[in-house]
Amino acid sequence: MELKTYISLVLRDKKRRELLLLIALSILLVFILILTMFQKKQEFKRLRYVLCPNCHYKGMQEVGKIEGSRCPKCKAQLGYDWKCIECEYEFSLLRTPILGKMTKKEISKYRINESSCPKCGSKRTFPKKLPGK
Ligand SMILES: [Zn+2]
Ligand SMILES: [Zn+2]
Repeated sequence: MELKTYISLVLRDKKRRELLLLIALSILLVFILILTMFQKKQEFKRLRYVLCPNCHYKGMQEVGKIEGSRCPKCKAQLGYDWKCIECEYEFSLLRTPILGKMTKKEISKYRINESSCPKCGSKRTFPKKLPGK
């Protein structure tokens, strides 16, 4: 039997047509599921290292959830795991909210001051990189 005649035969049959529609719908559903799973995975990638200023516990936390997250060991406020390029000192950095009105320039100056190294005062400090980045 030729494929063309086979398809027309299948399409003529109501039950088979319904079955085909069902298969098409389930493929679509699986496709949507994979797509949402992929999106969740991408969100999951936005992780940062966190460091406890009290007991030096290290972990990972999602961006946006770091402020207000507590150390699982001693319940202290967790900060970003920050590192100084100059003296390699590692410290816990907690971003404080901007109070009052500030220009963009003032905010960036404030952020740089905030993240300067507590040991040597260097402004060349960066968040500790995640593996494979
Ligand atoms: Zn702790
Ligand atoms: Zn330093």
